[in-house]
Amino acid sequence: MPMQWSNWSASVTCQPMVIRYPQSLDEIVAIVNECRQQGRGLRVVGSGHSFTPLVATDGVLISLDHYSGLEQIDVAAGTATVRGGTKIKALGTLLSRHGLAQENLGDIDAQSIAGAISTGTHGTGLTLGSISTQVIGMTLVTGQGEVLVCSEHERPEILRAAQVSLGALGIIASVTLRLVPAYRLEYVWRRENLGLCLEQLGHNTAANRNFEFYWLPHTDKVMTKRMNISQQAAHSQLRHTLRHYQELVLENSVLWLISEVCRHFPTATPAASGLIASLVSSGMDINDSHKIFATPRLVRFQEMEYSLPLENLAVALEAIDRCIRRRRFQVHFPLECRVVRGDDIDLSPAAGRDSAYIAAHMYKGMAYHEYFAALEDILRSYGGRPHWGKLHSLTARELAPLYPRWEHFQAVRASLDPAGLLLNPYLRRILGVGA
Ligand SMILES: Cc1cc2nc3c(=O)[nH]c(=O)nc-3n(C[C@H](O)[C@H](O)[C@H](O)COP(=O)(O)OP(=O)(O)OC[C@H]3O[C@@H](n4cnc5c(N)ncnc54)[C@H](O)[C@@H]3O)c2cc1C
Repeated sequence: MPMQWSNWSASVTCQPMVIRYPQSLDEIVAIVNECRQQGRGLRVVGSGHSFTPLVATDGVLISLDHYSGLEQIDVAAGTATVRGGTKIKALGTLLSRHGLAQENLGDIDAQSIAGAISTGTHGTGLTLGSISTQVIGMTLVTGQGEVLVCSEHERPEILRAAQVSLGALGIIASVTLRLVPAYRLEYVWRRENLGLCLEQLGHNTAANRNFEFYWLPHTDKVMTKRMNISQQAAHSQLRHTLRHYQELVLENSVLWLISEVCRHFPTATPAASGLIASLVSSGMDINDSHKIFATPRLVRFQEMEYSLPLENLAVALEAIDRCIRRRRFQVHFPLECRVVRGDDIDLSPAAGRDSAYIAAHMYKGMAYHEYFAALEDILRSYGGRPHWGKLHSLTARELAPLYPRWEHFQAVRASLDPAGLLLNPYLRRILGVGA
């Protein structure tokens, strides 16, 4: 009997025929071959944290939740091979036991490693690439049921396509990651003025390992976040608990309460945004890197995020500010601004350029279509490319010209999954592959 599946934000629901949880590489191969023989569509899910219908299927859904953990670790070389279903949170703990860490992470750790890289998940830091750039090798079960190993030395062209591949080339059974020695981060957050923040952007992104800011719309206030390597001992458990108390109570419970008021009385959003800005505190924490990056996200929302050429961040944000005021958009959720080093991965939104990312959020249950559409026009006019896991309206026609290696990805996809076993209608639309 079909079951109901839904993603984190409930923007996508579907009814797969069955959800399969393989426990070995052979089982993954067997599921792919069964689907081929029976002519059933197959999609693979990580933690379901993408907002776009990448995972949706009425065929077979495969989850690697039971295929996770470390396969191999080389501490001296600073590399580890981990199974695709490993959650980023668990990975941090596993690696730290061996004195290693991922060089950068996004702001949650609930994703699976394969799911995170498949959409180009990123954190912030001008010298640091997206999580996909940490991948130096991979074992893929292709749409033809073939087990394919690729690395920087073996089939490097396939690796470049597979590093951000939307689950369209095959099932990523394991990935080999380039790691760094475990490190501690000093994390400082404070409320600042938007104008000054934009003026000092160049300095702040260069002077801090990880710099980002959240701008509260309808206000001139931002919350900045700076993270830098620290040799000091981690703060006491009490300090961590206080930080988590602030995140849980102020950034989640209070935000939820304010958001519920806004959902019922949308005209209250400018005042709500001002109230949130006034509640932003200053603080500092020191802890192991994997414990610092992630923050709890208990309040559900919808999100759109675009990457831009780095130099366009300030002008794009100023245009968004004017647009929100002119169109009186009822939004109280902040816009998040980050920076990412450029890379050479076929479908990476940061391909070929150092990038700034601007993310817009809307509380779940509040109208977001017009707001996201207006911002999308602005972001596209500044050279934007959408985050693959977050809401956008583009199809292959608009996407293809944005990616210099688009045709290369298409050729790899066609060779690894010629029958389109792994394509759902959404993927066909964004990749431009006919039914
Ligand atoms: C609260 C929240 C915070 C977020 N924060 C950030 C952030 O800081 N930075 C950022 O860049 N993004 C962020 N995202 C987006 C998120 O990181 C991406 O959407 C990511 O792809 C989700 O990973 P997942 O494991 O949930 O994968 P899913 O959403 O389940 O799947 C994503 C894609 O990966 C494919 N996939 C999954 N597993 C495999 C596999 N084994 N083999 C092949 N393909 C596979 C799926 O088919 C799909 O195409 C956030 C999302 C939410 C909801």
